[in-house]
Amino acid sequence: MATCLPLSGALGSELLASLDALVFDCDGVLWKGDSPIPGAAQLVNRLQERGKRVFFLTNNSTKSRRMYGDKLRGLGFAAGPEQVFGTAPCAALYLRQEARLCGSVYLIGSAALRGELQAQVSPPTGTGCLVKAVEAATNRTAHVIGKPGTFMFECLVKEHGVDLSRTIMVGDRLDTDILMGSNCGIRTILTLTGVSTLEEARAHQESDSAERHKLVPSYYVNSVADLLPALD
Ligand SMILES: [Mg+2]
Repeated sequence: MATCLPLSGALGSELLASLDALVFDCDGVLWKGDSPIPGAAQLVNRLQERGKRVFFLTNNSTKSRRMYGDKLRGLGFAAGPEQVFGTAPCAALYLRQEARLCGSVYLIGSAALRGELQAQVSPPTGTGCLVKAVEAATNRTAHVIGKPGTFMFECLVKEHGVDLSRTIMVGDRLDTDILMGSNCGIRTILTLTGVSTLEEARAHQESDSAERHKLVPSYYVNSVADLLPALD
């Protein structure tokens, strides 16, 4: 089981030395809405200056890769669209590469997803509705692209060839970011600027359930900015 250790002092420096790549969730980690978390851009930029590879993995399906690249740069993060993995582009990749889809798509989703599909598959038709309703109507189980599913991370590994033993996932949600990290066999950091709390992590850690132990992060920080001194 993961240890849920506070990441500060020498432990922070030791951990960063053991990493080649850091994968960040965005909302609640690097920004909240349109306000950046203080120090987050400085951390991401400094990590890259020190030769670390940085990626962004988000369940937000309302933005394309290019739109995410624009948002990152607008908030002071030195990052390009090739570093971003979101549900919209990865769903398009899934349909093209895994489902080997030919023909048209009935789209239930955002304009960004429509754009990514048009770029990668074929013109989609239709919009609006919910996964559960589609599952009920079709009597099939949906394939989930977003976290805690592993497909987006697998896209990242395939495209950039990262070493799992030297990669960490940084997120604010135990049930998506941290669980995905566990599902992928990589270390994780919970940051407390977003949805999940340390008390929730501790409750999972103290439970007898192996399933709940997957929701326990390796480390936690109050904010990603807490990692800055480890880079000095
Ligand atoms: Mg988040």
